[in-house]
Amino acid sequence: GFKMGIVGLPNVGKSTLFNALTKTAAAQAANFPFCTIEPNVGDVAVPDDRLDRLAAIASSKQIIPTRMTFVDIAGLVKGASQGEGLGNQFLANIRETDAIAHVLRCFEDGDVTHVDGRVDPVADADTIETELMLADLESIEKRRANLVRKLKGNDKEAQQQERLLAEAQAMLESGKPARLVEVTAEDDKAWKMLQLLTTKPVLYVCNVSEEESAEGNEYSARVAEIAAAQGNAHVIISAKIEEEISLLEEDEAQMFLEEMGLEEPGLDRLIRAGYDLLKLETYFTVGPKEARAWTIRTGTAAPQAAGVIHGDFEKGFIRAETIAYDDYITANGEQGAKEAGKMRAEGKGYIVKDGDVMHFLFNT
Ligand code: GDP
Repeated sequence: GFKMGIVGLPNVGKSTLFNALTKTAAAQAANFPFCTIEPNVGDVAVPDDRLDRLAAIASSKQIIPTRMTFVDIAGLVKGASQGEGLGNQFLANIRETDAIAHVLRCFEDGDVTHVDGRVDPVADADTIETELMLADLESIEKRRANLVRKLKGNDKEAQQQERLLAEAQAMLESGKPARLVEVTAEDDKAWKMLQLLTTKPVLYVCNVSEEESAEGNEYSARVAEIAAAQGNAHVIISAKIEEEISLLEEDEAQMFLEEMGLEEPGLDRLIRAGYDLLKLETYFTVGPKEARAWTIRTGTAAPQAAGVIHGDFEKGFIRAETIAYDDYITANGEQGAKEAGKMRAEGKGYIVKDGDVMHFLFNT
């Protein structure tokens, strides 16, 4: 599955947000109760209304959403890259994630201490990014030192690594994150293998006060600006509200949202923003037994998409029967779609599209 690390300075609302994410009704969807892998790791259902509509049409007994993992990565402070506090463990935890959700304090509250004594989310974003850049520089230097011997032999892989590490280092030394290095398609895989912290996509989570959760505030507006300039994403959320919502039953939560002038929980937006940031898409399998959502990367071909369900589906892939989501809804189900000529047979080269209802045929 895909994993987002929640980072941020102390007292910005990380734990509040993480608790809300993992307590919410969606996270505890009956078939996959929220499982605490570790106290700070939570598996969350990806909200998707389409799945419910498909299940209603097919009278599916079970509805199984696709899931995303969130990891609460505490302990980032100034100097983390120097190994102060929980620094090193913290950095190792981030390395294992696919993307970073960076919580920024955008709320004023005299009772909650800010580590630097002022509310300034742009400066906070900078503090964390600087730590991550320093950590990257340190690991690059170590890795380049380790490569020296291999480079004396004519090791092509080592040469490629060395070249990419040197480019990343130059970027970082100019004060910019490694994600700004332009990487060719041939280098892409090796580049990702370097697992540099500042190559991970970032989603800024602006934690605003309860009253500002619909529109945001001046602080979140400034974060939106830097996010756009950096090519990163941002969402506005009130961790406090989300925590309250997560404790309510579904109908109560709905009423509460209406009172607050919100269309949906901020967490839904957060999860979806993470999904978009990672360039993920969903396809469905739908039948009387279950309606289920599956996650793939955008651009995944049918056999690899089938492989998300089971490795055998990929190995023995013959073809896929596919109905686009809209066609499935318009035709009121599989039978109708078939009759309307909307069920397609697709081969190995088919790139699965977001919303596709798939049925895989395979050899065992
Ligand atoms: P962490 O250190 O980043 O995990 O921060 P916590 O989630 O523990 O929050 C630190 C303190 O800030 C707690 O007392 C929270 O109740 C409070 N807090 C979190 N979010 C908000 C918010 O949106 N508004 C206000 N006023 N307080 C918040």
